[in-house]
Amino acid sequence: MAPNVAIVGAGFGGLCMAIQLERAGIRSYTVFEKAQDLGGTWRDNSYPGAGCDIPSHLYSYSFEKYASWTRRYPEQPEILGYLEHCADKYDIRRKIRFGTEVRRAVFHDSQWRLTTAPDAGDERTETFDVMVLGVGQLNRPRLPDIPGLSDFTGVSFHSARWNHDHDLTGRRVAVIGNGSSAAQFVPRIAEQVERLHVFQRTPNWVIPKPDATFGPLPRLAFRFVPGLQRAYREWIYRYAEATLYPALAQGWSAGLLKKRALRHLRDQVPDPDLRAKLTPDYPPGCKRVVIDSTFYPALVRDNVEVVTDKIVRIRPDGVETTEGLREADTIVYATGFLSTDFLAPMEIVGRGGRSLREQWAGRAEAYLGISVPNFPNMFLLYGPNTNLGHNSIVFMIECQVNHVMSCLPHLTAHGPIEVRPAAMAAWSRQLDAAMDRMVWGGGCQSWYKTPEGRITNNWPGPTTLYRRLTAKPPLPAYQPVADQAVRDAGL
Ligand code: NAP
Repeated sequence: MAPNVAIVGAGFGGLCMAIQLERAGIRSYTVFEKAQDLGGTWRDNSYPGAGCDIPSHLYSYSFEKYASWTRRYPEQPEILGYLEHCADKYDIRRKIRFGTEVRRAVFHDSQWRLTTAPDAGDERTETFDVMVLGVGQLNRPRLPDIPGLSDFTGVSFHSARWNHDHDLTGRRVAVIGNGSSAAQFVPRIAEQVERLHVFQRTPNWVIPKPDATFGPLPRLAFRFVPGLQRAYREWIYRYAEATLYPALAQGWSAGLLKKRALRHLRDQVPDPDLRAKLTPDYPPGCKRVVIDSTFYPALVRDNVEVVTDKIVRIRPDGVETTEGLREADTIVYATGFLSTDFLAPMEIVGRGGRSLREQWAGRAEAYLGISVPNFPNMFLLYGPNTNLGHNSIVFMIECQVNHVMSCLPHLTAHGPIEVRPAAMAAWSRQLDAAMDRMVWGGGCQSWYKTPEGRITNNWPGPTTLYRRLTAKPPLPAYQPVADQAVRDAGL
């Protein structure tokens, strides 16, 4: 009999899982989504200019190619439209329980007991054979630890919770943060506001985004020329793998990446003082490289100031730095996400009453980024060490979903399965060894790292290797729970 599957989250990960179950003829699943709509990060991040710096034809499912992309790099409304198209085509919406947060999941009696909290109504408990968690890494906005946040008397919001009711025309705006999100919305709002102060704590490397539109002709070609979409997608994928990955692995293209970023800065920022402010002192890729051609031109505008003085506090009327006050009536916090606190705030309790939070103890790890010892029949999508700085996360998600699909026959045949502790330990050793050669380790602080400096978010290998590893048959890395329980008991 097909297992009963709970999927948590209706973003790229959860939808991919649901679609593959549908395609396999497994209809015994439920998707829990705490919001009222699907789309995950592409529902939440609706700030002006929100989009993806991975090309459209690669930032989509391989099994659901889409000839309708209107740009080389997709903007948020189009990505959300794509996900809605997928949900509709595979008839997933009927299986999504919107407005229902999963608060707690306990493995008991060979099943996962989920406590769910609907927006309207009381908590409920339901049981499932399998739990797949597709909640993402960048789903909880992080506000900065600056004193006085609540003293501000103007309007403030996080970039991932954009206040569309607040018209920025003629406003004095402070933006705190200068990562990929700020780089996308600053150019859009700079023309509209009276004054814009961009507070930069650390400069980022920026490289151009060679965006272009796809007119009717290329779109027709993508639709009707056999193999064109596949070949184009494959070309973008191979290019990123062959040129960008070696830069992050401090290989042959690292110097080229730096040269390209410095040339971009030189071309777009004529003022040497501003250029100096914007030049990082760590290697490109250590923090996520910003891919954007409009950020620097926005920063050189007369009504825009890049502030590098240390912020002291937020005051009722603006942002105070060591050098004085920048008055503002609006503050946008582009300060990123609580990225290393995987699966929070869900409470997950595995075999023998083990708490996942306690087992991880601030350092999330999972075999293939997917499975955790002591947590049988539980699978993570976009879990620990599966983020990329150079290629499409959707590719990684598909690898993970394929792996989960290959586990299903085993757990159906043998009862709950879990990853062997030895397989987990070997995986962690291999990750550590591979991590040593990557650029993320030294010289910068980033959302890839725990406060202790451990990189819990990024995958350190080529994605071709990840595909190979996740495509391997899951056994013998997994074992039936019954076997491990016998071992635990020392029998
Ligand atoms: P982020 O990269 O984490 O950037 C947060 C910014 O806030 C940084 O500039 C950080 O400075 C600053 N900050 C945080 N706390 C601060 C404080 N107390 N005082 C002053 N500054 C502070 O966040 P993000 O821009 O939202 O991007 C997150 C990730 O989302 C990206 O790296 C990317 O992976 C993804 N994203 C992707 C796209 C895309 O096109 N694919 C677009 C947007 C976002 P420091 O650098 O000094 O810490």
